[in-house]
Amino acid sequence: MRLVIMGPPGAGKGTQAVVVAGMLGVPHISTGDIFRANVSQGTALGVEAKRYMDAGEYVPDGVTNAMVRDRLTQDDCRAGFLLDGYPRTVEQVGELNAMLSAAGQSLDAVVELTVDIDEVVARLVKRAQEQGRSDDTEDVIRRRLEVYFEQTAPLTAMYEAQGLLTRVDGLGAIEAVTARIIAALAIDA
Ligand code: ADP
Repeated sequence: MRLVIMGPPGAGKGTQAVVVAGMLGVPHISTGDIFRANVSQGTALGVEAKRYMDAGEYVPDGVTNAMVRDRLTQDDCRAGFLLDGYPRTVEQVGELNAMLSAAGQSLDAVVELTVDIDEVVARLVKRAQEQGRSDDTEDVIRRRLEVYFEQTAPLTAMYEAQGLLTRVDGLGAIEAVTARIIAALAIDA
């Protein structure tokens, strides 16, 4: 299965993506995780990405697209993948589409986790206290949400028009949300 999971920062995408990818036996590909791994290893990509991440801005499309292209051509993605945090811009949607169609592939579904904005802010503030992520400060959280609603939320309409989008309520216990995702995908897992 080739899946994308979308939703605002703090919607619980990452948490759900790990569980769902495990159930489906496909790799979980989080662009945020790959950027953070590069930041902590001090690679050139990490140094570049950190400037944007710490400001709550998106890393430029050229950088992000090249990184995803590299990851999706690895062997473990042949039978499928779950993309978490990509695509996030119109250009990334086009790039993913081009990558897949060049390989004779297409997406099977796009899951949008919906969560109201007050809940999302509360979760991010809590995560800031627990994990100390450098982009979880109040100003940066506000900027990340703005960027999401300007650039990424509208992408769901594109996927909806293609009949790929399924919306899942992201509120409630982790297991309850997972069960909703699995049910929405109409798969046995
Ligand atoms: P969240 O969704 O909670 O903001 P992520 O871990 O998905 O967290 O992303 C953290 C940061 O990594 C983003 O704010 C952005 O700077 C960068 N990033 C992740 N994915 C992308 C992407 N597809 N395009 C551009 N920047 C990205």
